Amino acid sequence: MQRGSFQWMKTLNKSIILNKIRTSGPISRAQIAKDIQLTPPTVSSIVKELIQQGIVRESAQGTSQGGRKPTMLIINSTEFYVIGIDAGPRTVKFVLADLSGGIKDEQITPVNRGITTQQFIHTLNEGVQRLISAQKPLADKIVGIGVAMHGVVKVEEGISEFAPNLDLHDVAIKRELEKVFDYEVKVENDARAMALGEAWFGSSSGVKSMLALNIGSGIGAGLMIDGKLFHGEYDLAGEIGHMTLDLHGERCTCGNKGCLQTVASGPALEKRARRLVKEGKAAGLASLAGGKPEQITGELIYQAAVQGDEDSKSILEETGTYIGIGLTNLIHIINPSKIVIGGGVSNAGDMILLPIKHTIEERALTAEAKQTEIAISPLKENATALGAVALMLTELFDPMAANV
Ligand SMILES: [Zn+2]
Repeated sequence: MQRGSFQWMKTLNKSIILNKIRTSGPISRAQIAKDIQLTPPTVSSIVKELIQQGIVRESAQGTSQGGRKPTMLIINSTEFYVIGIDAGPRTVKFVLADLSGGIKDEQITPVNRGITTQQFIHTLNEGVQRLISAQKPLADKIVGIGVAMHGVVKVEEGISEFAPNLDLHDVAIKRELEKVFDYEVKVENDARAMALGEAWFGSSSGVKSMLALNIGSGIGAGLMIDGKLFHGEYDLAGEIGHMTLDLHGERCTCGNKGCLQTVASGPALEKRARRLVKEGKAAGLASLAGGKPEQITGELIYQAAVQGDEDSKSILEETGTYIGIGLTNLIHIINPSKIVIGGGVSNAGDMILLPIKHTIEERALTAEAKQTEIAISPLKENATALGAVALMLTELFDPMAANV
């Protein structure tokens, strides 16, 4: 779908009606009119347009409250698609998803520190192109590209201002992608996109305030308050990976010492595990890695821990403790209703979740704070890519959600 034609959906009443059908469908026209306080003729004429445009369709008839049975409406979720990009420090993942978050196809490209701005843009262009080529019949149904970029993002301009893990500055992602593709592009920080995706597709819709923590090669947090993403004055809110935990700790990619990221990210875990294996410890992990410390990945550490390797278990436990300390700090500042954890490290499930909960229980100030709901994202490693998809969907369904 061409960039301009996306605009037709973006009128306020259309968005409100679409969102009502999305969240409450199957629903009748009369019920929509009642719930959102528009007149029945207004609802009918907008619904007619939405049906013509293919985004809404009629489903089975509902139950009658006397008189004719009403026709129910639902979102025609496979009529339109969005490309979601999870641009992390080590890989860029591209997904093609329908309006309900169903992933139709995905592509992954590795990236390395030392990549230039041009090479990075090329990686994005090429990945999108590959996805479109693989799904040619759907190309006309794509309504846009959402990009979840790690690091600090200038949201309005769609610029990656600073991505410390790749040492990239001022990459005009939106402008460059819109130059090549005739789709609307939205760019957001990865953890904030993840928070949006969690609220949109995960199990956190309707939660009053939610903090989504993305722990992978880096660590970031996205905050939703009253259904809206919180950005802060200069789009910096949520850079929790660079919260200092140890004044004399290891040097971080950002230049400071002892950031949370230096002790609790995927690479930090791997580094610790490699050191142990080199010292002749973590025998179970060493054998899984074929005796080669450089082969150790987060996945292998988890497997070794599951198989009973005590040193691997300790690594995950220690990581959970550090994350728990970071989260306790955040609970004391923000006091969210719920915290959701996604990203690669969250694949360790309870091995990481239990020490996190334990640490918060031990350290939080009040009984309520100790009981803050903490869960692993049901979207797991797709949480960020689906968050990128949700960036475009908020444009369509709920323009206020992404605009704080
Ligand atoms: Zn840092």
